[in-house]
Amino acid sequence: MDKINELKKYVIVTGGLGYIGSHTVVELNSAGFTPVIIDNLSNSSLKNLDGLIKITKENINFHKIDCTNFNAVSNIFSNYKNIFSVIHFAAYKSVFESINYPDKYYKNNIESLNVILKVCEKFNINNLIFSSSCTVYGNPDILPVPENALFKKPESPYGHTKQLCEEIISKSKINSVNLRYFNPIGAHPSSSIGDFSHGNPTNLVPIITNAAKDKSSHLIINGNDYNTIDGTCVRDYIHVVDLSIAHVSALKFLLNNNGKYSFNVGLGKGYSVLEIIKFFIDITKIDLKYKFGPRRKGDVSSIYANTKLISNYLSWKPRYSIKDAILDAWNWELNK
Ligand code: UDP
Repeated sequence: MDKINELKKYVIVTGGLGYIGSHTVVELNSAGFTPVIIDNLSNSSLKNLDGLIKITKENINFHKIDCTNFNAVSNIFSNYKNIFSVIHFAAYKSVFESINYPDKYYKNNIESLNVILKVCEKFNINNLIFSSSCTVYGNPDILPVPENALFKKPESPYGHTKQLCEEIISKSKINSVNLRYFNPIGAHPSSSIGDFSHGNPTNLVPIITNAAKDKSSHLIINGNDYNTIDGTCVRDYIHVVDLSIAHVSALKFLLNNNGKYSFNVGLGKGYSVLEIIKFFIDITKIDLKYKFGPRRKGDVSSIYANTKLISNYLSWKPRYSIKDAILDAWNWELNK
């Protein structure tokens, strides 16, 4: 493997103060890259910048810029020589919100990618890692789902924007790795950085930890009539630190390889909503109350990753178990 030298040191991280972006900044830093964060703070917090400085004990390059602004992004890139790659996280990410506000999602998620690609071309930056999602598969026919599965009709505008972005990247000249995330959960074990998404949580694990802490809020399981082991939906939950390490593995891969790649990033195992709740109760001994409600629009019954490709190409394997991830999620809820 190439040494990370002066010529390859800067990595632009769009959305680098967000949930996955901030954890990736930590891993980039410890791998010897110099991350440069671009974030408009639309769904993140400067508290993650404080947390990053605390964890890395270094100054972190941060620019409050909107990725859809070509001139502003160009201006930042022009300040750094030797940018090796961009990792593009900046995007809206709520499946549920995208169903109610599709235009917001199409406009922002696609425009920001187009700007990043144009700026990369302008500055001769040849590498891109793109934050994709297992939602590109829609409701998959094969489980665990492999990367070459056909893209089915997306279940939400959010999923559709990820399909469209992958298509745009496939037609560009840039060397690229699409990382298709399954369900990231947990937080850095130090609890110094985590998910500061605005508004009420919409994902299962933050809703569980929130309900456990704030005893007045209720946990509703969205449907118990799916064709799964216990009737509740099955997902592949991956510790956010493992997911972040996958970005560094992808970057190191691009140091020596050209071309276009897509990899699933998951644990490779599916757990039902009820199983996750039981793990949480087991770990915390909190008597968490829940009720069954109707199905949620846009949900597929089961999806979990085939992880052979990422293990073969990037030698990446998750280090954290599902229980570690749930415990770190709980610690984050208590300490954030
Ligand atoms: N879920 C649930 N109650 C909640 C939030 C989520 O039962 O309050 C379910 C959701 O319907 C899905 C699973 O938990 O089956 C994971 O949902 P999440 O939003 O975390 O991820 P996604 O469905 O987007 O993969």
